[in-house]
Amino acid sequence: MEWQLSTDVVVIGAGAAGLAAAVSARDHGAAVIVVEENFDIGGHAMLSGGRVHLGGGNALQKKFGIKDSPDQIFADWVNHKRGDSRYNDRDLVRAFADECEPTFQFLLDNGVTFIEKPIVTPDASTVPRVFVTHEWHIPGEVIAPRRNRNGSGLVRRLAESARRKGARILLKHEMKEIVRGNGKAARVLGIVAQADGKDIAIEARKGIVIATGGHTGNVNFRRMFDPRLTEEYQQAGLPYSFQGADGELAAMDVGASLWATGTQTSEVGPAITKTRHVGTRWGYLSLYFELDSPIFHLCKATGLTVTDWQEAILVNQFGKRFWNELDSSYDFINAALGNHGDTTKLNGGGPLWAIFDADAVARQKWKPKPPHVDPDGYFASADTIFELAGRIKNPYQKQPISGAVLQETVNRYNSFVVSGADTDFNKPTPLHPIAKPPFYAAWATPILHDSLTGLRTDIHAQVIDTRGEAIPGLYCAGESQGGFAQHGLGRCLVFGRIAGRHAAQRNS
Ligand SMILES: Cc1cc2nc3c(=O)[nH]c(=O)nc-3n(C[C@H](O)[C@H](O)[C@H](O)COP(=O)(O)OP(=O)(O)OC[C@H]3O[C@@H](n4cnc5c(N)ncnc54)[C@H](O)[C@@H]3O)c2cc1C
Repeated sequence: MEWQLSTDVVVIGAGAAGLAAAVSARDHGAAVIVVEENFDIGGHAMLSGGRVHLGGGNALQKKFGIKDSPDQIFADWVNHKRGDSRYNDRDLVRAFADECEPTFQFLLDNGVTFIEKPIVTPDASTVPRVFVTHEWHIPGEVIAPRRNRNGSGLVRRLAESARRKGARILLKHEMKEIVRGNGKAARVLGIVAQADGKDIAIEARKGIVIATGGHTGNVNFRRMFDPRLTEEYQQAGLPYSFQGADGELAAMDVGASLWATGTQTSEVGPAITKTRHVGTRWGYLSLYFELDSPIFHLCKATGLTVTDWQEAILVNQFGKRFWNELDSSYDFINAALGNHGDTTKLNGGGPLWAIFDADAVARQKWKPKPPHVDPDGYFASADTIFELAGRIKNPYQKQPISGAVLQETVNRYNSFVVSGADTDFNKPTPLHPIAKPPFYAAWATPILHDSLTGLRTDIHAQVIDTRGEAIPGLYCAGESQGGFAQHGLGRCLVFGRIAGRHAAQRNS
């Protein structure tokens, strides 16, 4: 192979795990190149709320008198009574538990600052362990300004530190392939990335860290775990940061194994969530992109925030209600992903539409016009329900909704408002009829959020092959790593730091 660039450690992806790996590898004396496919660093972590889940007796826990220890973290995250802990790989949880406090200190040492207020105990944790980073101070560099995207402070500080320490971050460089020597015990040699349509081969003398963020955006890959997840679903992080399972696929091409795949479908944690911002292609729960976001041209609309699902009904691609709109549990998700009697497309539930009227718009103070909604396939309005059905046109809506069916759905729902009881789906006391024109239909399809499974690694974050052997020089951290179904930044930062350190300490 002819290498255009050469370094000790190549990190693929400049998000939470990749930046931690880059800094950690530099701290241990390795030369580092990070390749990042996006135009800027940060990945999902840039858009995150910056709620960092690390405990073990860290400096801020001590300041607030919160008693915690690695043993307590371990006990919490292997608790057989909880779905988010039951299936975790005990070896990985032990490594995580032992490295939480040093990772928190590592963040402080690299300029990350935190709001000094512990967050109520989340997920499996039995003591408060979450502290929130400060948002980055330059609004134009926050990507989603004024939406409390505190994770921007985390990744901007880590990128600043990585560069100051001498790591090279190559933006708009997409990893296409991991190159491995011949033979079962051969180590990985480098990667091929693409920039401006040209291939660039980068040698990794010591190791390669996969930190590409997971698989939510790859339809074929995500359907390995759940065949219902066909192309229509929204993905958290878009349209900023795409997660296409590139790291997983490139590693599997050189022999890597997946791990603890059942965690993706165990119906705990935010693998799939209901949306709260409707009428835009990329909805979310707590985030939308304002007009001055540097990526607003990609989103095209902010969306309308539904603060109360009494304001709308949700219908499927046939114009029929399918569940109690007030529910956000996996019962709702399973109903949304059901087949609904589609004989042409057996997998996936198809698009969902929020249907509401002018009174709901007034109560919610919505502005149902561009740039708040996207009429190019994700929002429609009309003076009658019948007409509205005909105006719902979307790439994922395979057949037109029948006006008669949608009218019947609305009539029936309105009768529940009069009688005070939803005899179809038990929505508690339906409050508002859908009666005052104009009428509206807004895209409200569920969102794929976390990758909770990925590549098998050992406690050093070394990738393991399908026969249980480490692939020499290959590492993985973040949402592309399997075996520990914890939501978010905590495990990504811990294993990123472990991966960078171990790769740097390898003999070439
Ligand atoms: C809106 C939102 C809010 C969230 N809030 C929180 C929160 O408050 N607390 C919390 O703990 N977690 C939160 N999360 C989850 C958290 O952000 C992620 O779990 C975390 O960022 C994952 O880290 P990662 O390094 O695995 O991936 P990312 O941070 O997404 O980074 C992956 C990077 O790899 C790059 N990449 C992908 N493929 C390639 C390729 N082929 N070549 C080169 N580069 C590539 C991507 O462009 C990206 O920059 C949130 C997520 C979202 C979307």
